[in-house]
Amino acid sequence: MRAFPCRPQRSPSVDTRTIDGQAIAQEFRERLMRRVGALAVNGVRPGLAVVQVGSHPASKIYVRNKIRACSEVGLHSEHIELPDSADEPALLDRIRNLNIDKRIHGILVQLPLPAGFSVDRVQETIAPEKDVDGFHPINIGLLAIGRPRFVPCTPLGVMKLLEHEEINPEGLHAVVVGRSNIVGKPMALLLLQKGATVTICNSKTPNLGEMTRQADILVVAAGKPGLVTAGMVKSGAVVIDVGINRLPDGKLAGDVDFQSVWGIASRITPVPGGVGPMTIAMLIQNTIHAAERVAEHASRR
Ligand code: NDP
Repeated sequence: MRAFPCRPQRSPSVDTRTIDGQAIAQEFRERLMRRVGALAVNGVRPGLAVVQVGSHPASKIYVRNKIRACSEVGLHSEHIELPDSADEPALLDRIRNLNIDKRIHGILVQLPLPAGFSVDRVQETIAPEKDVDGFHPINIGLLAIGRPRFVPCTPLGVMKLLEHEEINPEGLHAVVVGRSNIVGKPMALLLLQKGATVTICNSKTPNLGEMTRQADILVVAAGKPGLVTAGMVKSGAVVIDVGINRLPDGKLAGDVDFQSVWGIASRITPVPGGVGPMTIAMLIQNTIHAAERVAEHASRR
């Protein structure tokens, strides 16, 4: 059995349940394997290229997990490692080659990039139809107008967790803490499209607790360990903790103080084992979706 963060001993007023992202991601992977099988019948094997620049220690672990997930589901994957000394033109050249490589349906450039690289330029160089991270301005734009093609993996994973738990955002107040392009903003757009009333908070929001206490669904993606505590959560709220923070003792912690919120929230995602596994499952799903689109276009010709 996996060790979730310790639950407190006090008697809870609300029967809190953890949302087991690991188990839900496993269910997803099984469904995805069937889609891979269907593509194989038509001679298509989805392929993902993960490009890493430099030797950022956390990136190494993230990339390894993504490559491993690809092989578990039957995807072709390539891990392209550029040295610390690589410059931006070298990275852009690699991306352009991958854009025209028929074995590759999805391209992901692992962030963070070394200082001096323009993340915008890098993301804009990836062909939008291979942008399985969903960060290209075209894909963000399509999401914003309600015609999503590739949706950023973490917010998509959160929506799948809610769906799995039969939580319909329509008519609920969702509060998103964080406004980054890769998590907070697309998260808010997805919740909005499902009919939630959405509030987006950022580091300048005065009295954050006043906002978060209004949330029926609270998504926290700030990268600040223990930012959200008991007094900031409404009784019965669904709390999704996106944060992944490495503490000085080496342990991982979310942005929510899991123990203090236990007995207040109705559901909560643990860290680790909540949103993280779903992010990887959605990356695989987006890559399969990219390959299905190619196969579909080919069959129409
Ligand atoms: P960013 O640093 O890009 O964005 C953080 C956001 O949180 C910013 O908008 C910032 O506001 C806001 N913020 C910071 N402090 C506060 C505060 N005290 N009150 C309110 N808002 C605050 O991070 P990311 O969006 O990339 O990631 C967020 C977290 O999610 C990180 O811990 C990251 O590791 C994790 N993550 C987890 C993933 C997963 O698979 N589970 C995937 C991706 C990220 P402002 O804009 O004003 O600075």
